[in-house]
Amino acid sequence: MPKPPPKRFSPPSSRPRSTFEPRIRKGTVRVQPEVASRLRSGHPYVFREALGGRPLRENAGEMIEIVDPSGEFVARGLYDPENIVAVRVFTRDRAELLDLASVKRRVVAAQKLREGLIPADTNAYRVINAEADGLPGITIDRYGDYVVSQLFSPATSAIAELVYDAIEEIYKPRSIYEQKRFRPQTGEGPRAPATLERGVVAPVEFEVKECGLKFLVDVTAPLSTGLFPDLREGRRAVAQHAKGRRVLNLFSYTGAFSLYAAHAGAREVVSVDLAQRVHARARKNFELNGIPERSHEFIVGDSFKVLAKMAERGRKFDLIVIDPPSFSQSKTGVFSMQKDYRDLIQAALAVAAPNGLMACVSNTHKVSWDELDRTIGEAAGNSGRYVRVIQRLGLPPDFPVLAGHVDGHYLKFLLCAAA
Ligand code: SAH
Repeated sequence: MPKPPPKRFSPPSSRPRSTFEPRIRKGTVRVQPEVASRLRSGHPYVFREALGGRPLRENAGEMIEIVDPSGEFVARGLYDPENIVAVRVFTRDRAELLDLASVKRRVVAAQKLREGLIPADTNAYRVINAEADGLPGITIDRYGDYVVSQLFSPATSAIAELVYDAIEEIYKPRSIYEQKRFRPQTGEGPRAPATLERGVVAPVEFEVKECGLKFLVDVTAPLSTGLFPDLREGRRAVAQHAKGRRVLNLFSYTGAFSLYAAHAGAREVVSVDLAQRVHARARKNFELNGIPERSHEFIVGDSFKVLAKMAERGRKFDLIVIDPPSFSQSKTGVFSMQKDYRDLIQAALAVAAPNGLMACVSNTHKVSWDELDRTIGEAAGNSGRYVRVIQRLGLPPDFPVLAGHVDGHYLKFLLCAAA
C-alpha cells in the first residue's frame, strides 16, 4: 500500500492571522513575529489583542511563557486576565525564575542605578519603577522613612509580597503602604485609602524634603500623597526662572510649583485650584518653609473661569504653570486633556505678559510630545502670539523607562516663551 504523502505543516508565521493559534499548552502562548521582536527589543507588554480571540484560562498573576512562531523562548511574564495589557514581562532570560533572590537582585540593581542621581537633600523619590526596574506592574516610592507601593494590575499579587520582603530588608522603612491602581472586579467604587502592608501606622501628615524644600505628605491617602515626585525636573525649572516674576500656578494642588517659585524669589505667586482643601496643605507647606503668605494668593475656582476674570481685569503674569489632570470633573463639565488643552493655553496666553514664560505639562501617555507641541502652536496661532519652546523636560532619572517602551514617557513638560 502506498504511503500517504507526509502531512504538510506551514510554519505558523505564514498562516493568516485569523487562524493563528496562540495557545500551545497551559502557561505558554505563541505570539506573532512582530510582537516577539518588539518584546525582544525592550517593550515590556503583550497586549490582549496579540493573544487572539480565545481567552486564556490562567489566573491573575500566573507566570506565562511567551514563545515566537518557531517556538523559541521570548520572555516570561505575569498574566492579567482583564487589562488590555495581558502579560507584563518579568524576564527575557529563560533560566531566571521568580523568587525572592531574583526580586532582591532587582531591588538592589534599582538602588544602584539611582546612586548619585537623586538631588541633594531629597528623601522623596521613586525606588522601583515597575517594568523598567524588572518588576512588572509595581512601583515603590520612598517618602522619608515610609514607603508607598502602587499596584497597576491584579497580576502583581504574585510579586508584591516578595518585593515588600526585599524593600524591608534593603531600605528598612517604618512602614509600607499599598495603593491599588486597577479597577476592582466588582466595578468602580470610591478610591479606597492605601492599606498598611508592613510596619507601623504612619502619621496623617509628616515632612519630607525635596531639593532642600519641605513638604507635608500623607502616605495613607487613596491616590496621591501630596507630592508628585515625577514632576521634580519641572519644579526645578520653574524655580530657575521664577526670580522677580509674577507667577500663576494653575491646578496648583498642594502648591509644589508655587513653593519652588516663592522660594526662588518670585515677586508674586497666585495658586488656583478647584478644591479648597488642597490650599490648606499648600499654606502649611509655605509656612513650613518660612515663606510669608502675604505675597501669595490662593484662589479656589475653576481655572478657565479664573483666567477669564483675570483677563477681563487686565491682570498679567510672567510665568504661568499649567498642569491639568488628564481627566477631571469641573463645574463646567469634564476636562479632557485632548479636547480642552488648547483652549486652556489660549486662556492662559490672555494673561501672559509680553515675553512671559508658560510651562505646559501633560501627564498622560495618550498625549504625545508632538501633539502637545502642536496644541501649544495652535493656541499661539489663535491668540496671535509668537510662542517658542525653550525647554523640554520629562521624567527624572528615578523614573527610568525601558528603551523601546516609547509610551512609558508619559510625563511631558514644555517651557515656552510667549512674545
Ligand atoms: N500641579 C500639581 C498637580 C495637579 S493635580 C502639582 O504640581 O502637584 C490636579 C489638581 O487640579 C487637583 O488639585 C484638582 O483639584 C485640580 N483641578 C481639577 N480640575 C480643576 C479645574 N477645572 N480648575 C482648577 N483646578 C482643578
